[in-house]
Amino acid sequence: MPDALHRLALLESILGAVNLGAIVLDEQHRIVLWNSWMAHHSARQADAVLGQDFFAVFPEMRHKRIDSAITQALRDNFQSLLSQTLHKAPFALYTHGAATGGNDAEERMQQAIAVTPINLPGSPRHCLIQINDVTIAVGREKLLREQTMVLRSQTFSDGLTGIANRRHFDVAIEKEVRRAMRTSSPLSLLMIDIDHFKDYNDHYGHQQGDDCLIRVAAELAAMLQRPTDLLARYGGEEFAAILPDTDAAQALRMAEAIRQHAADLRIPHAKTGNEVKHITVSIGIATQQPQQPLAISALIGAADRALYQAKGAGRNRVMAQPL
Ligand code: GH3
Ligand code: MG
Ligand code: MG
Repeated sequence: MPDALHRLALLESILGAVNLGAIVLDEQHRIVLWNSWMAHHSARQADAVLGQDFFAVFPEMRHKRIDSAITQALRDNFQSLLSQTLHKAPFALYTHGAATGGNDAEERMQQAIAVTPINLPGSPRHCLIQINDVTIAVGREKLLREQTMVLRSQTFSDGLTGIANRRHFDVAIEKEVRRAMRTSSPLSLLMIDIDHFKDYNDHYGHQQGDDCLIRVAAELAAMLQRPTDLLARYGGEEFAAILPDTDAAQALRMAEAIRQHAADLRIPHAKTGNEVKHITVSIGIATQQPQQPLAISALIGAADRALYQAKGAGRNRVMAQPL
C-alpha cells in the first residue's frame, strides 16, 4: 500500500478508535466526518448524517452557544471551548450507547465540547467538533459538593440536640456583633440554663437527662422565628440565643416567653428541692446598644452575670444585666 494511503487508513482507524466524539463540518455546515464514537453514543450511523446540514440533523442546536462557536471557527478562525458547567448536555448522547440510553435529559452524557477551525492548504476552512464524556467527573464533583455540605453542617451542629453548637455560636456572635455596629442596631444575647439539672440526672439517669436536653433544645429553637436568630448549645445544659435587631425590652419579652414555654412543657422533675416539680430554666439577658459597641467577651460576661443573678434570686426567672 502506498505510504499516503496507508497513513490515511491508519488515521481513519484511529478516529474510529479514539474515546471521544469527532464531527467535522465543511464551510456550509455539512457533516463530512462522523466517527464511530458518535455513532455508538447517538442513535445515528455515519451513513445517515454524512453530507447533511449539521443544523438539519440537530435543529435544537440552532442559536445555541455551539452555533456561534461553529461560526467563530469557520468564519473567524477561532477555537471555542464549551465547559460542562455552563452547557451541560447539548447533544443527545448517552454514555452507555444510544440503544440503552433513555430519552430522559437526566441520563444524558455530560459533555465538554471543543470547536476548532481546521485549515487545509488549498481548501475552504472546516471545523472539528470534539466531544468528551465528562459524566463521571461531573458525578464525582456533585458527590464531593454534597459531602462537603454534610461535613459542614456536622461541624456546626451539636451531636446530641442537632441545634447549633458552640463553634457555630462563636462564628455567629462575631458576625452579628460586627453587623450590629455597622448598621447601628441593637443586639441581644440570652443565656439559658436548666435549673437543678444535676439533680435531674442523678434521679432519672443520664439517658433521660439526654432526652430532656433534646426536647428542651427543640422546643426553644422552634420559638426563634427570624432567620437571623440563633439558638446554640453553649455548654452542657446551657443554651445561648443570639437575637439581632432586638432591644432590651424586646429581649425581655422573648426571654419571658421562652422561660414560660419551658415551664409549660411540664417535664416532671421530682428533685428540684422546692414546690415546682417540673423542669424550668433561668435566663440572663445582655443587650448591646447601637451607640455602645462592646467586646464580645463583655456581652457574654454580662449575660452570664445576669444568669447568675437569676439563679441566686430563686431560679425559673429572667434577669437583665445593664451594660
Ligand atoms: P443550676 O440550677 O444552678 O443550674 O443547677 P444545675 O444542677 O443545673 O447546674 P450544674 O451546672 O451544677 O449542673 C449541670 C449538670 O448538667 C451537670 C451534668 O450532670 C449535666 N449535664 C451537662 N451536660 C449534659 C449532657 O450532655 N447530658 C446529660 N444528661 N447531662 C448533662
Ligand atoms: Mg443548670
Ligand atoms: Mg449550667
